[in-house]
Amino acid sequence: MAEEVNPFESLQEQIDEAAEYLDVGDDVIERLKHPERVLETNLSVEMDDGTIEVFKAFRSQFNGDRGPYKGGIRYHPQVSRDEVRALSGWMVYKTATVGIPLGGGKGGIIIDPDEYSESELERITRAFAEEITPLIGEDKDVPAPDVNTGQREMNWIKDTYETLENTTEPGVITGKDISSGGSAGRVEATGRSTVIAAREAFDYLDKDVEGATVAVQGYGNAGWITAKLIDEMGADVVAVSDSSGGIYNADGFDPVDAKQHKRETGSVVGYSEADEELSNEELLTLDVDLLVPAALENAIDEELAHDIQADVISEAANGPITPEGDDVLEDKDVLVVPDILANAGGVTVSYFEWVQNRQRFYWDEERVNEELEDIIVEQFDTLVDAYEEHDLPSLRVAAYVVAIQRVVDSYEQSGNWP
Ligand code: GLU
Repeated sequence: MAEEVNPFESLQEQIDEAAEYLDVGDDVIERLKHPERVLETNLSVEMDDGTIEVFKAFRSQFNGDRGPYKGGIRYHPQVSRDEVRALSGWMVYKTATVGIPLGGGKGGIIIDPDEYSESELERITRAFAEEITPLIGEDKDVPAPDVNTGQREMNWIKDTYETLENTTEPGVITGKDISSGGSAGRVEATGRSTVIAAREAFDYLDKDVEGATVAVQGYGNAGWITAKLIDEMGADVVAVSDSSGGIYNADGFDPVDAKQHKRETGSVVGYSEADEELSNEELLTLDVDLLVPAALENAIDEELAHDIQADVISEAANGPITPEGDDVLEDKDVLVVPDILANAGGVTVSYFEWVQNRQRFYWDEERVNEELEDIIVEQFDTLVDAYEEHDLPSLRVAAYVVAIQRVVDSYEQSGNWP
């Protein structure tokens, strides 16, 4: 791989590029390029053998002009201050792109969760929850799942917060289990919007989803649900991968079966319906109609972008294409639906969960999915209109132009203080 790209610098480049098309002062743009604050904390937690281990953790609150800070908590060895800062900024422009009344934040713990027992993970999670309790709240900052976290961790955080604050406040966190106040459809939401965004992009190009070939990099929650839902729409999932490698079958295979294999063995590699094994790089450069990067940042850099053969990319991951990679894909006319729209289903259904928690009134899955679909389709059209009207270089620039303007509008209405 080429040299490491700093995701925080990528975020700032994306903002600068969009700013060229906006009538917003440099001072205001500068304000939108930095988090308002970042908590860095060292959690000292007792392990099962009685020893103490220290874990570095972060919570970045990037911008709250449009509503409470909102964004997930990631558990990964590669978490860093700059990664969390970038991810929190992308949340600001994501909530603005889909037009939901929330700001952006993100948290993370530097940890490989596979190396710890469930009771250790619970203590680590509760230690982090205690640290962030003064910062979070349904009107302040609302965390959610991200890479390697899910309902279990959200339930622990909610319970820790409610116990410490002596209250019930399910809307302090989203992505909870249904019995703890979670929303129907939340687990599938990120994959669902990735697929809706891809379908709209195909429509825009007059291409059919039916019979289209699809490759998905990353088979965690976002990747595997994307594969399942696009298969249900009649596309052929021909390749999927995880951190151990990828599998390929030119005729397609059943993504649910492949997931079952991963559940049983820890990886998609070795799945019986696959003809060939391939690396993540090989998967990303397959000649497919749709490519879905659903793993981590920087999967497609400048060098790899030259070898991309897909017609459409729908970004289930956050920041999977570097700015230099984007430039190459623009020249090659690859239509990229940016992360801040494509994977925004997760935070959109988090917003629905928060609304339901505050009303203590719950919706059925059909309503959740319909309202999600309306938002993604409507905002896709908004981006396409901006892209065509202002002759913008990409849908990503269109998304940032629309989103930055929305943040600036609410900032200017509030005024600057002190
Ligand atoms: N972690 C997800 C994201 O990157 C979801 C955030 C949320 O639901 O607040 O969009």
